[in-house]
Amino acid sequence: MTGTTDFESVLGEWDGKAVVIRYDQPSGSWMFVALHDDTLGGPVGGCRMRVYDRPVDGLIDATRLAAGMTSKWAAMEFPFGGGKSVLAVPHPMVGEERWGLLARFAELLTTLKGTYRGGEDLGTTPEDMAYLADRTDHIMGGHGGDGPEDPGPYTALGVLSGIKSALKARFGDGGLGGRSVLIQGVGDVGAPLARMVAAEDGMVLTADIDAGAAARLAEECAGSTIAAEAVYATPCDVYAPCAVGATLNPETVPVLACQIVAGSANNQLLTRADGDALHERGILYAPDYVVNGGGAMAFGLMHQGVSDVGELNARVRTIENALDEIFGESAREGITPGAASDRRVERILERHRT
Ligand code: NAD
Repeated sequence: MTGTTDFESVLGEWDGKAVVIRYDQPSGSWMFVALHDDTLGGPVGGCRMRVYDRPVDGLIDATRLAAGMTSKWAAMEFPFGGGKSVLAVPHPMVGEERWGLLARFAELLTTLKGTYRGGEDLGTTPEDMAYLADRTDHIMGGHGGDGPEDPGPYTALGVLSGIKSALKARFGDGGLGGRSVLIQGVGDVGAPLARMVAAEDGMVLTADIDAGAAARLAEECAGSTIAAEAVYATPCDVYAPCAVGATLNPETVPVLACQIVAGSANNQLLTRADGDALHERGILYAPDYVVNGGGAMAFGLMHQGVSDVGELNARVRTIENALDEIFGESAREGITPGAASDRRVERILERHRT
């Protein structure tokens, strides 16, 4: 990471509420709990565990991700605020060292008395969440629902709903029949998404750095597989980034051969300018924090006691309505979908503030 280099300047420039910082001496890790906004409810967001070059990079990640959670919850008008925690570890944590760190993190969450509630994120696992949930009341997981304990299938359903909205906006018809969807990354989200697309008669194209996994899924979905490096220039109706962030950048946007970008990856645009470049090329972009909110929404609902899978799925499908409104405003006002969704977030927060 580049830019700001010390705790003072990161916090001095941040527009959030507060960051709770604890240094964990036994493991040499830093714990950051970033509370960005509580207009809609108490801050909720995942707990990331990662090795960073410098502790301040963990703080930067926590503050940036917490702000992203504010937008994600607000875009769905879900009664949670934006928060995120980061465990910046000096080396990958395994075994007793990992459990010790997590036990002390649970103590910190208990001290915060629910001011922030955490869940799984990059670098943490369902087992970690179960371990934390045994020690503190302030962890959100799939406990209590009848549906999958894994958010991936719900996120995939949200992405599918977003794709339908985008198809409607672009072609006047949201049907997947005969439409090609190129899924980059066939993991927890990409694999169920491919199966859903195939079930609605869409044409599935898969790509993954694990070429074998991509090929197996393509075969299962009667689709085809393409090389990981050929993703951007491959003609398709929908490019669904479901692997890593920043795949929309000055190198890829000019060569994209798709009509629509709609996928689960976080932070798909390297910078805002790449959203403008997509818009200028006439490629419809479904803002990532709206289209990938299905898992967060389902887990939030389960935490509120909703356990019926049909109801959870119906709520996740409302992502299609949110995107219909965003694409509508974007077309009417001649602004990018990203700008339209940022405006929507600000409007919703402002309404609740007043
Ligand atoms: P995952 O780790 O289960 O799967 C990612 C897949 O992408 C793996 O199969 C991996 O081999 C592949 N991959 C990695 N780099 C690649 C590359 N350069 N090109 C092609 N394939 C590559 O992750 P996931 O849970 O499916 O999440 C996918 C993305 O969606 C991530 O960016 C994640 O942050 C985001 N996301 C996930 C959820 C969720 O519910 N799991 C929710 C919101 C956002």
